Amino acid sequence: MAQISTGTFGFPRIGPKREIKAALEAYWSGKLSQPELLSISAEVQAADWQLQASAGITRIGIDGTLYDQVLDTTLALGLAPVRFANFSGLELYFAMARGASGVGALDMSKFFDTNYHYLVPELEGDFSCKSPNFTPLLEKVTRAQALLGKSRAIPMLIGPVTFVLLSKRDLALPEAVSRLLPAYGQLLRQLQQLGCPEVQLHEPSLATDAGAAAREVYESTYAQLAAVGCPIDLVTYYDDLGEAYPWAVNLPVAAVSLDFCGVPGSAAGNATLDLIRAHGFPASKRLGAGLIDGRSVWADDLAAAAAVLGELSTAHGITSISVQPSTTLQHLPYSTAGEAGHLPAELLPKLAFAVQKLQALADLATPGKVQPAGPEAARVWGQPPDGAAAAKAGSLPGVDAALLARSESYEVRRPKQPEFHAFPTSTIGSFPQTAEVRRLRTLLRSGKLSRPEYERLVDQQVAFAVGVQEAAGLDVLVHGEPERTDMVEYFGVQLGGLAFTLQGWVQSYGSRYVRPPIITGDVSFTQPMTVREFTVAQQLTAKPVKGMLTGPVTILNWSFPRKDISRAAQAAQLGLALRREVDALQGAGCKIIQGAGCKIIQVDEPALREGLPLKQQRWAGYLGWAVDAFRLSTAVAAPGVQVVTHLCYSDFQDIMPAVDAMDADVLTIENSRSGDAMVSALAASGYAKDLGPGVYDVHSPQVPDVDWLVEKIQGFVDSGVLKGRPQHIWVNPDCGLKTRRWEEVIPSLRNMVAAAAIMRGRL
Ligand code: GLN
Ligand code: ZN
Repeated sequence: MAQISTGTFGFPRIGPKREIKAALEAYWSGKLSQPELLSISAEVQAADWQLQASAGITRIGIDGTLYDQVLDTTLALGLAPVRFANFSGLELYFAMARGASGVGALDMSKFFDTNYHYLVPELEGDFSCKSPNFTPLLEKVTRAQALLGKSRAIPMLIGPVTFVLLSKRDLALPEAVSRLLPAYGQLLRQLQQLGCPEVQLHEPSLATDAGAAAREVYESTYAQLAAVGCPIDLVTYYDDLGEAYPWAVNLPVAAVSLDFCGVPGSAAGNATLDLIRAHGFPASKRLGAGLIDGRSVWADDLAAAAAVLGELSTAHGITSISVQPSTTLQHLPYSTAGEAGHLPAELLPKLAFAVQKLQALADLATPGKVQPAGPEAARVWGQPPDGAAAAKAGSLPGVDAALLARSESYEVRRPKQPEFHAFPTSTIGSFPQTAEVRRLRTLLRSGKLSRPEYERLVDQQVAFAVGVQEAAGLDVLVHGEPERTDMVEYFGVQLGGLAFTLQGWVQSYGSRYVRPPIITGDVSFTQPMTVREFTVAQQLTAKPVKGMLTGPVTILNWSFPRKDISRAAQAAQLGLALRREVDALQGAGCKIIQGAGCKIIQVDEPALREGLPLKQQRWAGYLGWAVDAFRLSTAVAAPGVQVVTHLCYSDFQDIMPAVDAMDADVLTIENSRSGDAMVSALAASGYAKDLGPGVYDVHSPQVPDVDWLVEKIQGFVDSGVLKGRPQHIWVNPDCGLKTRRWEEVIPSLRNMVAAAAIMRGRL
């Protein structure tokens, strides 16, 4: 029988009432002093550690950050880029996070396959750890030790290999990692001197292809770190270790923490238990058994987890087990307690946020507390929720394949769709979300405006947007999305099967938190969601107005999915619901132009790439059902209706065949910052449907001038994309304009239209 304990390695860091956000914003605006900010942060951390201690957790990961744990590590290692040489202390910290007078911030990037964004370290040229600064970390650990005792307070660090893999760098991986090791060694030694019984080194990259390919680097790195003599818990998460498992668990560390849950609803499931069955686990090490799902808001099946724990503690020669969350809990909201009286009473007990997960951990680890399910539960553990059918590449469970294809091919249907001159102009959908627009929503919510009054005022915003676009001379107009808070919530509240929390905030990055919806049941279409606003806009103009929807994959990827059916099955339900919206739009009774209905419908999928599994061998499975879900929602469009899609936030050179398979008539992409790499790649791949590469960056307040825009469009033509078909090269901004001001939008669009006209003149 293995010895059982419990452990954590990350908790929500934002404070139960978003205290950190409030403190940061007050500090940035000069209303809070530095000592006040630090003391609020220390209080929030202490409360979080205390909560974990009260739940009886044996080893508590000492986390907490003002902004980002990767940035914390970068600074601890003394790796601030030279452009920040004039900054120090917290000024340096926030300059790197957010930029400062004339100095650009570090880039932000998605943390593995989560919706958390980290600040990308820059390992410049022939770098070294010039001025490590362990003080903030050592002080935090000392505070934690005073509260928890030395045996329970376990420092957390990003491991050196993962740190380098997350960085921009010039040096090869082995060389770059070796430059960090003296600093890591020094830090481990100092933590040991403080009395830490062990230190967590987080190496989630071990679950990725890049990590699996870095065996030698891992082996030499951990051999050197082991020589320091400080026991290490090698913490891995976000997926099973796959082919890296046999050597990774034999690295010279005291404990290895493994994720037994994987991505909620993943069609590939999680293979950790099978890997242990096949290869065993070293008897000399403690196993960190991540049996409580750290990425799912649903309460765990403790009986099934107990069955697995039973097997682990008896069958594989394992001597010591720490029951843990499968991943850091930072991706979960704080507590379901904040939802009492808001979420339906019958739903509440089925959910478990971070605080409830602690209780689940403690219960699972308490002998006799949870009655284990039969061996069958352990046998199917880690398998996809609706079985082999969902795991099959490209399947959308329960959907007739006939629903996935437009009735005619692009070549045949395209001539039946709206045609314009060369370089037609349009936008991506949203227009400025002004204070006035937000005020209207607040008034509606508080009951100070009735629904009809609110709609009348929204319609005035739509009318203004239409007027601006008419005046700018755009070819295809949009209604401007003034009625939408955000592109998922707007649809989520109108569809059946999704729930919205009151306090379910999770950190997206820094001080930006989001409240993802929870898919709680079968998703269903209840009523048209966009037809009213489309019609209002279309009545005002003889130019075509584009219908505007968020796609099924994006809604899914920005929500907490169910765990009882696969993500593929949920995508199918969303796809079917949105299909009815597409159908409603094309049938909308709008008589002003070309008969009835909406002739151009955009279905945004900015988050398509975000759902890609960490291991490339699983990409095809994901892309298969994700693309099919998009097709399911759009294939209902009549041949004469133009389907547009929009992708952003990422490159997608490596998923080009999937993008082509979406079979949209027009593809608009965020492009202007990527130096046209994507346009060239599309040209090279022979992409042959209409294309709208973004001509200017919507994140900048700068108004692009006409010459600059002409150059940009000329660049597309020169890249050879859609050769000889300039009427199929669309001119549009990178993305929606909701974060911009009208003062920026109006001249920008005017210049964009002028640039397109100049390009036409060159033909
Ligand atoms: N139609 C959306 C908008 O313009 C698209 C947003 C996005 O790409 N993220 O705001
Ligand atoms: Zn976009």
